[in-house]
Parts: sequence; structure tokens; C-alpha cells
Amino acid sequence: MSDKNVLIQVKDLKKAFGTNQVLDGITTDICQGEVVAVIGPSGSGKSTIANLIPRFWDVTQGAIKIGGINIREIATGQLMDRVSFVFQDSFLFFDTLYENIRVGKPDATEEEVHAAARAAQCDEFIGRLPQGYQTLIGEGGVYLSGGEEQRVSVARAILKNSPILVLDEATAFADPENEYKMQLALQELIKDKTVIIIAHRLSSIISANQIIVLKEGEIVQKG
Ligand code: ADP
Ligand code: MG
Repeated sequence: MSDKNVLIQVKDLKKAFGTNQVLDGITTDICQGEVVAVIGPSGSGKSTIANLIPRFWDVTQGAIKIGGINIREIATGQLMDRVSFVFQDSFLFFDTLYENIRVGKPDATEEEVHAAARAAQCDEFIGRLPQGYQTLIGEGGVYLSGGEEQRVSVARAILKNSPILVLDEATAFADPENEYKMQLALQELIKDKTVIIIAHRLSSIISANQIIVLKEGEIVQKG
């Protein structure tokens, strides 16, 4: 691992919520283009790491650097441009499916929105919706399955095309029926990206270059 390829540096990262020390000194380097899996039991601090990268919360101690710059010193807009997320509970807006994808890149053309939806394996279910892309999602409209919602958030991230991706339990709804589709969608999404994939256990959906095992806020195994 040569230094110049390191994209994300996590240095003695600590996070406490009140007296609950959730992360207790996490140190690791992530190289550009690497797929890093973070696994560990529920409550071990995996999602906390995921939320610290976009600065949804700030660290208690230590630092996260991207491209050598502490994320505290990166403007929010710039940080958001560099990092995309797919979380377990995909957040869909009360709007059309089209707008729910386009939010990944507000100035996207219709072609780009459709291409992202196809790449994320959404076109098949979109074709079944009463008004296709213009179908209203949520109350008064149509409710999507968990797997479909996740593919919508993958489409969003494909459209956004940021260099760093954080996937927190993103494959949790991948039942056998849509596991293959999710795999295709994610393979398209992670092309040429630096990826942090967080999972309760090792997923067969994406193969990782590096595996970090977390337990009670500490790294207990790396390899
Ligand atoms: P994992 O994703 O590995 O299941 P989390 O990072 O979600 O674990 O949670 C680790 C610990 O941090 C848990 O004990 C949880 O209760 C605590 N925690 C997470 N978010 C918060 C919060 N916003 N406020 C207080 N405690 C939190
Ligand atoms: Mg979690």
C-alpha cells in the first residue's frame, strides 16, 4: 500500500454519546479504488462510522481525512459531492419516482435519469407502475418493496457518481428474488469507486479487498 494511493485516513477515531463510548480508537487507511467491508455484531459501532464520514455527527476525538484534509475543514457541499450513501432504510421523498432518482443530480437530463435507473435494475418494476417514472411514491401513490426502494437509492447514487461510497446494510433486503438484481445494481455503482460496505455479516453480494471486524467499538481483526 503506497502512501500516495491512500484516500481516506481514519486516525484514532473516538465517538461517545454521553457516557457511552461507541468507538474507542479506530485507525485505518483506505486506498483509492478499494472496497472495504466493515463487519461486526449489532451495536458494535458500524453505523456510527458511516454517519461520521459525511459529518452527520462530529467525532469526539481523532480525525477522518479525505485526500489528506480533515473533513472538518472541507465545506459541506464539497464533502457531499465526494461521498454518496445507500443506507438500510432508503429515504424516499413523497414525490414521483423520477424526482426520487433525479435528486442524486438535480441538473441531470431525462436520458441520464433513465440510464441510472436501468443500471440499477429499476426499469423492470418501473414498467409495471401505473404511470411509470411519473408514479407518485408513498401515501396516495404506490409503495415499493424494500428491495425496490434500495435499487432506487442505488440509481440515485449512480446518477450522483461521487468517488466515495458508503453502503450501510444496503443489501439487507436482498432476498433471493432480488439478490441477483441488487448484485448487478451494486456492481454498476461501485465501478472505479472507493467503497465502504457495512454489514452485519460478510455479504456474498460484493467482494471486498479489505475486511475490518469491529467489536464494541474497536477493530479486532483486519485482513
Ligand atoms: P451498529 O451499526 O454496529 O449496529 P451503531 O453504530 O448503530 O451500531 O450503534 C453503536 C452504539 O451507539 C449503540 O450502543 C447505540 O445505542 C449507540 N448510538 C448510536 N447512535 C446513537 C445516538 N444518536 N445517540 C446515542 N447513542 C447512539
Ligand atoms: Mg448499523
